[in-house]
Amino acid sequence: MSALSRIGRFAPSPTGPLHFGSLVSALASYLDIRQHGGRWLVRIEDIDPPREISGASATILQQLQAHGLHWDGNVLYQSERLPSYLEALDQLKQKDLIYYCQCNRPRMQRLGGIYDSQCRYLQLTAKDHAIRLNVGDRVPTKGGIEGEIEREDAAYLSFTDQILGHYQQCLRAEVGDFVLRRRDGLFSYQLAVVVDDQYQGITHIMRGSDLLDSTPRQIYLQQCLGYSQPEYAHLPVAINPDGQKLSKQNHAAALVPGDEAHNLFTALVWLQQEPPAALAKQSITEILDWGIKHWSLAKIPGTLEMAAPQEF
Ligand code: GLU
Repeated sequence: MSALSRIGRFAPSPTGPLHFGSLVSALASYLDIRQHGGRWLVRIEDIDPPREISGASATILQQLQAHGLHWDGNVLYQSERLPSYLEALDQLKQKDLIYYCQCNRPRMQRLGGIYDSQCRYLQLTAKDHAIRLNVGDRVPTKGGIEGEIEREDAAYLSFTDQILGHYQQCLRAEVGDFVLRRRDGLFSYQLAVVVDDQYQGITHIMRGSDLLDSTPRQIYLQQCLGYSQPEYAHLPVAINPDGQKLSKQNHAAALVPGDEAHNLFTALVWLQQEPPAALAKQSITEILDWGIKHWSLAKIPGTLEMAAPQEF
């Protein structure tokens, strides 16, 4: 693959303004892609209206610009992509890989979140049921789906994370048939992210380690749909002193306008890129230029979580 064909993305959900943790993800992906002369895209994942905060999309885009993280092309909004998600569901239906599920939340809670496939063979049709992907005993191959296989290891999926190394998950035992469309009609993150990564030609995904265990589901879906598989790199997640991921719900401090150069420098230090102290006094352009030139994946700690800098 030529360096020019590298395409990355930052894909925030508009659930609040950027905080230090989301800035780190945006910055890391940006520097990695720019170092390779690739295209860096922004996609707003606004497919879950109940969780959205009004005005958050605009704020996030404005914060990215203020940090000098300029994207290529137009921003893609998932809310405008619903027909494509339906099309993907249709493709899966033709391969007999999805089914309607009537199980409710209390039942799922009793199952500990891992679905037992109860509805798989009930042939339900009602449209107000959830839609699940059958991860059963099938082994996806590059060209499509092979038949049922009895082997115990058939449902294992593994990939090599560029930061964390080998990662393996048994979808059948650890996840079960998962939801692609909820009973309220909303499409799941897993489906939308896979359809859009393919649509946008994404080759390199860099994001927080909180999404590491979603990756096998996404790879499985890619294989079911005959899509190509991007490279993955999962960054440490910034946590607060209580051990929680920084988020709006956990009252993470919003990034303060005017502090952009400081935020970028602090993020580079946190990612252990070892910027020289003098860079702290430079402009955002100089900090980003230094970051692009010196970006090193190998320096990023291969760990799931790290304490956020105190001020954040
Ligand atoms: N929209 C997701 C989030 O904000 C990220 C999706 C992704 O990077 O795959 O957590």
